[in-house]
Amino acid sequence: MSSIQDVLGEIEGAAVGPIAAAASAVDARRAFPVESIERLGELGALGLTLPESAGGLGGGLTDLARACESLGRACASTGMVFLMHSVTAATIGAGAGPAADAALSAIGDGALATLAFSERGTGAHFYSPELSAERHNGGVRVSGRKSFVTSGGYADIYMLLLQGEADGTADAYLVEKGAPGISFEGEWTGLGMTGNASVAAELEDLQIPDEARVGEPGTALELVFSTVAPLFLVGLAAVNVGIAGAAAGAAVEHARNRRYPDGSTLAEVPAIQHMIASMDTSTRAARLLVQEAARLGDAADESALVAIMESKVVATETAASVSGRALEVTGGQGYTRSLPIERHLRDARAGAVMAPTNAVLRTWIGKAVTGLPVP
Ligand SMILES: Cc1cc2nc3c(=O)[nH]c(=O)nc-3n(C[C@H](O)[C@H](O)[C@H](O)COP(=O)(O)OP(=O)(O)OC[C@H]3O[C@@H](n4cnc5c(N)ncnc54)[C@H](O)[C@@H]3O)c2cc1C
Repeated sequence: MSSIQDVLGEIEGAAVGPIAAAASAVDARRAFPVESIERLGELGALGLTLPESAGGLGGGLTDLARACESLGRACASTGMVFLMHSVTAATIGAGAGPAADAALSAIGDGALATLAFSERGTGAHFYSPELSAERHNGGVRVSGRKSFVTSGGYADIYMLLLQGEADGTADAYLVEKGAPGISFEGEWTGLGMTGNASVAAELEDLQIPDEARVGEPGTALELVFSTVAPLFLVGLAAVNVGIAGAAAGAAVEHARNRRYPDGSTLAEVPAIQHMIASMDTSTRAARLLVQEAARLGDAADESALVAIMESKVVATETAASVSGRALEVTGGQGYTRSLPIERHLRDARAGAVMAPTNAVLRTWIGKAVTGLPVP
């Protein structure tokens, strides 16, 4: 079996190769990046965060950040699908139960997984699900809708977050694609990340056996805050550093090659140099913050929580500001599809509103820094 460093190197190679080459078509057609995800499967990348005991690579936050930055730079939709899969794989690994074991083994064989947490009603507060199941047939039965399920209809395994029996608790269940009672509605019409298929899951009398629960009854929120949150926040931050890097890189290339009739280049204009300096500085600062947050998280340092939350806020805001500045550098040409800037600009808008949203995170950071409980 390949080492984790080998696989990370392969991911970076595929990211600058076929995954980057497919990104523009994925975006223009709003197509799920089937080939790119298959390529990641062939490389063993879908086992990055799967525990070694389940045949995975056992990667941590630092490894996830490295993979997510290179994928986010190449194709943000692929980066999102990979991120949701990797977070789900690690969360199943951190839980336990018969369904968890079977799912880990399926993921080891190439199955794609994702999280179905969000609901229309609770929105940004996905950790307080309204959907509740009733006891039925030796298990539970649930009807309702989960919104924004990345890879909806494409993933093989869905982790559903439902209200627990005791007040203020939640349970996580694993449901397979094609199970009677789960279907996927509509098309993803989001501004950016156009290939990530974040559609709604319709649940109609979905019967779930007790064995499909991950972990003990009522313990899912511990998994959400101890495993889902750090991996998701660092991974999403890294995807956004990738988007910022891609936007800055495309703007620099354009500035070097765009020539005026007198032979001078755009790169020689001082105002453009200042904008490029600002893009480069803020992308580097965001990358260093994400790497530091990942390192603290991997070391289980007590300051990790704040650093991880801050890294998501800073990286997503950096992606938005850098891609906006890249548009100024590239002008009207950047506003068209002749350059990838407009794609990066749209992709960069998702991060701030993905839960925990930046507004909610600011509240949590303020609470954590002043010693108040989070959330
Ligand atoms: C591209 C994409 C992919 C996604 N993938 C998934 C997925 O795979 N699985 C999944 O479960 N979900 C996913 N989501 C859902 C996402 O994480 C959010 O839960 C969802 O976007 C919340 O949307 P809402 O409009 O209902 O938020 P609302 O709750 O209506 O919030 C609207 C705004 O108000 C602010 N706000 C609300 N309450 C507070 C508060 N107390 N303090 C401060 N500000 C507040 C929020 O920050 C937000 O900006 C995805 C979303 C996107 C955009």
